[in-house]
Amino acid sequence: MIQMTITKGVLDASLDPRKKNRDCEFRKWQQRTCKHDSIAPLLTHTMTLQEWLEKNGAKGLDHLVLEEFPETGRGIKTLRALKAGDEILTIPGAVLWTVDAANTDPLLGPILRSLDPPLSVEETLAVFLLFIKARDTGYEERKLHTEVLPTHYTASIFFDDDELEVCAGSSLYGVTKQLKQQIKSEYMITLDRLFVKHPEVFPLHKFTLEEYSWALCTIWSRAMDFKLPEKQFRLIAPFADMLNHSLGVKTCHVYDQRTGVLRVLADNDYKARDQVFINYGPVPNNRLLRLYGFVLPNNPHDSYELVLTTHHLAPFYDQKVALFIAAKLDVNSTFSLTLTEPLPDKVLQYLRIQRSTSQELTTILATANAASKPVTARNEAEILTALDEALENLLAGFAVSIEELGLRVAGDQYPVGGNAWAAAHVSMGEQRILRLALAATRDRQVLVVCARCGKAEDGNKKCGRCKKVVYCSVDCQKAHHKEHKGSCKSPQ
Ligand SMILES: [Zn+2]
Ligand SMILES: [Zn+2]
Repeated sequence: MIQMTITKGVLDASLDPRKKNRDCEFRKWQQRTCKHDSIAPLLTHTMTLQEWLEKNGAKGLDHLVLEEFPETGRGIKTLRALKAGDEILTIPGAVLWTVDAANTDPLLGPILRSLDPPLSVEETLAVFLLFIKARDTGYEERKLHTEVLPTHYTASIFFDDDELEVCAGSSLYGVTKQLKQQIKSEYMITLDRLFVKHPEVFPLHKFTLEEYSWALCTIWSRAMDFKLPEKQFRLIAPFADMLNHSLGVKTCHVYDQRTGVLRVLADNDYKARDQVFINYGPVPNNRLLRLYGFVLPNNPHDSYELVLTTHHLAPFYDQKVALFIAAKLDVNSTFSLTLTEPLPDKVLQYLRIQRSTSQELTTILATANAASKPVTARNEAEILTALDEALENLLAGFAVSIEELGLRVAGDQYPVGGNAWAAAHVSMGEQRILRLALAATRDRQVLVVCARCGKAEDGNKKCGRCKKVVYCSVDCQKAHHKEHKGSCKSPQ
């Protein structure tokens, strides 16, 4: 029993570069069980899964093997060379986890179909997974897949309070707290509507909140989404769900609606014995940790989601809404601040409209650029000051600074690969972006307000030499000369 649990725990590493701890776990298990060929029991297990898949028409499995990789943990290796665009793997419709498969199951289907309103896609898949996992007899084939799924996850909803506090102030912190609440209330509703009504199908000790959270995390970390002509479509494909994540490859899975088959194509050329990757797209650490339970240190796709809203009682609300629409913005907008674009033009455009006076609104309407350029110096100075304050406040809201987190990550306070270590990386990533956004805001501020007196006037002129500050008058420029001359260098 212990052996099985740890075996499955090791598979957890399939998506997880934070593998040090798990390696350790894996090695302990190796020593206890099978000294020389520790991977054999896993492979035997998966072979059976492969046989089931092949019986249903899966293709490509002959050339693929599961293996432990030093960098990524468990992944899939190709035994033959592949060219970009080659079909790596075909998983037949009959073995996919889909809402249709749940709804047509002879035991589960009638119960699900009798619900009005029906469960959401995510709820249906979660119930389906737990239903199969809970069966003592029958369903042996589908169980081959649930048995190789990780027994636990390291996504942020499973962090204890101390671990989560490490990233207090980050967007992940708020989202995780909210998500935990939401899962709990969703679970209570489903418990009431479904589980307690059919205890013979849903034995309650196997349909706990913990199990339900596990099922949701299985979906978040493994499901693939497809846009079909009439609907958004979500599935989990056995075996294909063990492909590792890489930042370097393009998304290459295709769902054929006519045949119901999932095909995974090679995104790249691979040599025989290379690991094959799948791409989840450019995912920032806060999302990786929420959905998949891992982070990539110094993730180039890190982002901070900045939310801007305008109160309906704000002056000239209707005119502003009309301008937001003209600017292709929403009244409640979320902007991704990134490392390469910490202060997107759209954020400035939103704020210019939001903070316009009646006269400035007229100006914006007359220029027809929907405030994509500064409207007036007054407006520009106001939005930059507001932004400066907002970013300062967001940064002050982080429980631990980048510098302190850096020390803790480098020392042994947060063991590499642990939850606190991962939370620290999310927090550092978000703070790094907010600091860049603040610096970009200040670079703009000095081009709007007079460096000496702080006046924001449309006639302010740049310093002729460095072009990095502005003055409202020759008097101000002269009076500021002594202070400014040290930093005044002509640009190359
Ligand atoms: Zn001045
Ligand atoms: Zn200068």
